[in-house]
Amino acid sequence: MAEIQIKNVAKRFGSYQALHDINLTIQDQEFMVLLGASGCGKTTLLRIIAGLETASEGEVWIGGRRVDHLPPKDRGIAMVFQNYAVFPHLTVFENIGFGLRMQKLPNDEVKRRVERTAGLMHIDQLLGRYSGELSGGQRQRVAVARALAMEPDVILMDEPLSNLDALLRMEMRAELKGVLAESNTTAIYVTHDQVEAMSMADRISVMHQGKIVQAASPIEVYRNPAAEFVAGFIGNPPMNFLPATPSGDGKWTVAGQILDGPSRTTPLHFAIRPEDLRPADTGLAATVKVVEPLGAHLLVTCSVDGALFRAVLDSDLNVRRGDTLTLAPQPDRVRWFDPETTLAVA
Ligand code: ATP
Repeated sequence: MAEIQIKNVAKRFGSYQALHDINLTIQDQEFMVLLGASGCGKTTLLRIIAGLETASEGEVWIGGRRVDHLPPKDRGIAMVFQNYAVFPHLTVFENIGFGLRMQKLPNDEVKRRVERTAGLMHIDQLLGRYSGELSGGQRQRVAVARALAMEPDVILMDEPLSNLDALLRMEMRAELKGVLAESNTTAIYVTHDQVEAMSMADRISVMHQGKIVQAASPIEVYRNPAAEFVAGFIGNPPMNFLPATPSGDGKWTVAGQILDGPSRTTPLHFAIRPEDLRPADTGLAATVKVVEPLGAHLLVTCSVDGALFRAVLDSDLNVRRGDTLTLAPQPDRVRWFDPETTLAVA
């Protein structure tokens, strides 16, 4: 069992507070993604779990054992970092087997593990090559294979696909997800790429300014963002927002339209995803600013009541700059946020 518990972890660098009171449990064999913009504290949290950084406050537990006073090598983890250190003067075989040799495993066990993980990462044809001769993508696979060869209970990865081109990233994303699921490893994966997060994670922890704003399944984070920050960060393009004023009895005025909403008496923000809008006879009046045909659909950037508003519409729709569209939000997809707390309102 390799459940990871992060209890009340805070980190200060001098007077700068990089992490505030982080509490998070990662289940045994779960694939947890830490997602957030640059500087939000993802890497710092990962390094604290790894033991490369010391928390200013709080505890880290792995598999029921408190580990925050143990050196990295005694925590039962393997790591793959953005700037993966693959030794160019060693062969792929020697690179993958490096940690196993350090552990003084017998030769036949080293060979078995290297061949197995090289097979998983589809680099078994490269075992005799010097790593300095490999492409970036191949080297990246060697780094992952080396971590997997340790057969760790926990694997920590910091932007491990960042050096790959878009196509290879997409391929590796699926492969890595499959390999980790097969190897029963608990994984924490840091990225600022929301597509990577959505496609790979069992759960995503969305981080913002040193805090976890929401930890939930990808679909939950997408459909039911817990805070306005999450709604505006996840999704490409992200959710649209409009000010909403209460008009009595669960009715709201949004850009001159009356919509059903929560029973509240203070102003809220109305939010809707661009793909949850349809042209209709009644709805929000939108002036078209830009039309971008994206093949499968049209991305239409509009102005609604002076606010920027995007809709993802059917590619057959005949619409041009300057047109007026009436866009009806799909009622069960509308979300509401409290501008005071920025939190979602049920
Ligand atoms: P990125 O995606 O850019 O790697 P991140 O979310 O991983 O960002 P961190 O690297 O965890 O962010 O950094 C969080 C904050 O802490 C940043 O503002 C960073 O400047 C600061 N920070 C990180 N390490 C140190 C350090 N050793 N000394 C001082 N400040 C630091």
